[in-house]
Amino acid sequence: MANFETVQVETDLLILGGGMASCGAAVEAAYWAKKNGLKVTLVDKAAVDRSGAVAMGLSAINQYVGLKEGDNTVDDYVNYVKQDLMGVARDDLVASIARHVDGSVHLFEKWGLPIWKAEDGGYVHEGRWQLMINGESYKVIVAEAAKNHLGTENIYERVFIVGPVMDGDKCVGAYGFSVREEKFYIFKARAVFCAMGGAVHVFKPRSSGEGLGRAWYPPWNSGSSTYFTLKAGAEQTCQEVRFIPVRFKDAYGPVGAWFLLFKSRATNAFGGEYMVERRDELENWKPYGLAKPIPANLRNWLGMLDIMEGKGPIYMRTEEALQKIADEYKDDPKAHKKKVKELEAEAWEDFLDMTISQAILWAASDVQPEEKSSEIAAAEPYFIGSHSGASGAWVSGPEDLAPPEYFWGYENMTTVKGLFAAGDATGASSHKFSSGSHAEGRIAGKAAIRYIVNENPAMPTVDDATIEALKAKALKPLDLFEEHKDFTSQTDVNPNYILPKMYMFRLQKLMDEYAGGVGAQFTTSKVLCERALELLELLKEDSDHLAASSLHELMRCWENYHRTYQAEAHVRTMLFREETRWPGYYFRADFPKIDNDNWLCFVNCTMDPETEEWTMLKRDILPMK
Ligand SMILES: Cc1cc2nc3c(=O)[nH]c(=O)nc-3n(C[C@H](O)[C@H](O)[C@H](O)COP(=O)(O)OP(=O)(O)OC[C@H]3O[C@@H](n4cnc5c(N)ncnc54)[C@H](O)[C@@H]3O)c2cc1C
Repeated sequence: MANFETVQVETDLLILGGGMASCGAAVEAAYWAKKNGLKVTLVDKAAVDRSGAVAMGLSAINQYVGLKEGDNTVDDYVNYVKQDLMGVARDDLVASIARHVDGSVHLFEKWGLPIWKAEDGGYVHEGRWQLMINGESYKVIVAEAAKNHLGTENIYERVFIVGPVMDGDKCVGAYGFSVREEKFYIFKARAVFCAMGGAVHVFKPRSSGEGLGRAWYPPWNSGSSTYFTLKAGAEQTCQEVRFIPVRFKDAYGPVGAWFLLFKSRATNAFGGEYMVERRDELENWKPYGLAKPIPANLRNWLGMLDIMEGKGPIYMRTEEALQKIADEYKDDPKAHKKKVKELEAEAWEDFLDMTISQAILWAASDVQPEEKSSEIAAAEPYFIGSHSGASGAWVSGPEDLAPPEYFWGYENMTTVKGLFAAGDATGASSHKFSSGSHAEGRIAGKAAIRYIVNENPAMPTVDDATIEALKAKALKPLDLFEEHKDFTSQTDVNPNYILPKMYMFRLQKLMDEYAGGVGAQFTTSKVLCERALELLELLKEDSDHLAASSLHELMRCWENYHRTYQAEAHVRTMLFREETRWPGYYFRADFPKIDNDNWLCFVNCTMDPETEEWTMLKRDILPMK
């Protein structure tokens, strides 16, 4: 076995991931831990300052309810999320986040995040729930607060978490390895909080060799939350609810500011506006199709119908939108000129704040948004339960809101004792975004400390044999490479192993073709899902032969291993739900209609951690107390 040092760390609460939810959990848990003399430790595969989906920055905070200002109520937010998810969401979880999210936003501002202000001193809204920010340093600011609360000695960066450490039905830690040093880690804890993001590159991306790795969702979240919680035995929910964003084509620039702030139209290549011309189609998806706002998946769907009829590409009419706003000043040439400059700056800043590559693509392809429309397109499917997807672990709601069926003692505890989750790691509570994920992390972090204080679980012991077995498993790809690398003259072609890149291509190809990827126009069926499962089974057999020539490649092996379980949870759940509920995200060709009589419910699943047998089940959608 590779000769790595074994590092053992003991802590009371172990936070896995260093993204928005984990930073929220860190701040809150550290506060309550200090009062109770407890230790909190955070582990991230990257550096917390620039890790996770907010790493590059954001141009808007997407969830701000405005309770203090009297702009909206918690119920307004619950209704909005339910409508967008075609009726499938947990009211109690969404409400729990909605009542706390403004607090997180106020903290961000206090910590130094510049939020745009209007002349009357109020926040500038991009839309009803969104606030405009100068957000290129958003993550750095949020991370700094987390670090200050935890103390840098309690943060392990560049440590990749492979899987859970269990004591019977309790989660008591995690194991992983450094991606920079030859060190294997065992973390033992009295409670564990998992927030390792969603997943990208499970499906084949639109970008191929020329831009490999380029996707809307950042490349470093690879299904570790799903793998970790599944392998601990935790029930999952909404694993069929992938997210497909429509974004500026090829560099995935955000469209929110264009649609909401600049009020731009999207038209097809012939100038037709699919949101107007295809309005009748919305009748087929009532009641959600006829209510406002029109769900994101249905908006996608109307555009996709144009594409499938050969009316593409679809364009964002940037020049028209900017012109219209500037025209309000047309009687005053000086003010008009100033407004045009201001709009141009805002348009570019929107990209520079969060998707710099889109600004680069515009510059490289001579696009002046005030002169020329830009193409938009549906991206490939992603798993991001915090955004407009909904996949993740099934967690307890808060006592005062959750019906008894949804409550088992501690907010955001999964169905596994001592294992908490938030952000992309929890399901059925979409539209929490960056701010709501932070708020949910705070809720879960506080509950986890309460669990430790109330239940007083013993500090776990993990015997040496178990540690050695986990170490051998984690490092096996390195050993396999070392053993067989000289069998061929080219190390990337070898009958004894498979390198992670090739493995990933195989996964992506099968998901694309059978599970409703870009290449299949997001369409699947019973037969296709069953074929996908057969191919996944074969792929899993070969996952035993994943090999790594370096620490970096070892991480790539485990990322792909995690993705495989995310893929399987997805396919099994799509197969189980015999209807089409979210056209525009995926279409079941054999059940092309929504079926509220039989399928207005959650589809949940569990995987036996030992035998890896799956169980599918329906759960009722219940109102909150
Ligand atoms: C492209 C994009 C644009 C978005 N735009 C907006 C927006 O405009 N406004 C808004 O409010 N929200 C936006 N969001 C949503 C927001 O970014 C997410 O809701 C939020 O980041 C989710 O928080 P999280 O903690 O669950 O995941 P993340 O913030 O992604 O954090 C996941 C963490 O887990 C770590 N990790 C992953 N795997 C492992 C492993 N195996 N071992 C150890 N650590 C691991 C990562 O390094 C990272 O630190 C956007 C998201 C995306 C992807």
